Amino acid sequence: MATKTKTRPRKSPPKKKWRSRAVVRNIEAGSSVDCSHCEERVKFQAKKRGQQVICNVYVGGVWDRVEHYHLECYRKAGQPYGEAAA
Ligand SMILES: [Zn+2]
Repeated sequence: MATKTKTRPRKSPPKKKWRSRAVVRNIEAGSSVDCSHCEERVKFQAKKRGQQVICNVYVGGVWDRVEHYHLECYRKAGQPYGEAAA
């Protein structure tokens, strides 16, 4: 029989194709990232509890980069990486 049985440890779930995904996070103090939509700083403001969308962008199934958006900007941009998970 030529069929090989793979005996991989089953620690990780079956290999799935990585897709870009987006999550909503509070903007933290000292944040120094720029919004990928409006190109303005995603700034922490003590009075205004801002939220940002952090996107892990995969290109061809391989992690490529992280993009940050203001929450409103992400919606304005048409949610390019799908609905942001809370
Ligand atoms: Zn923005």
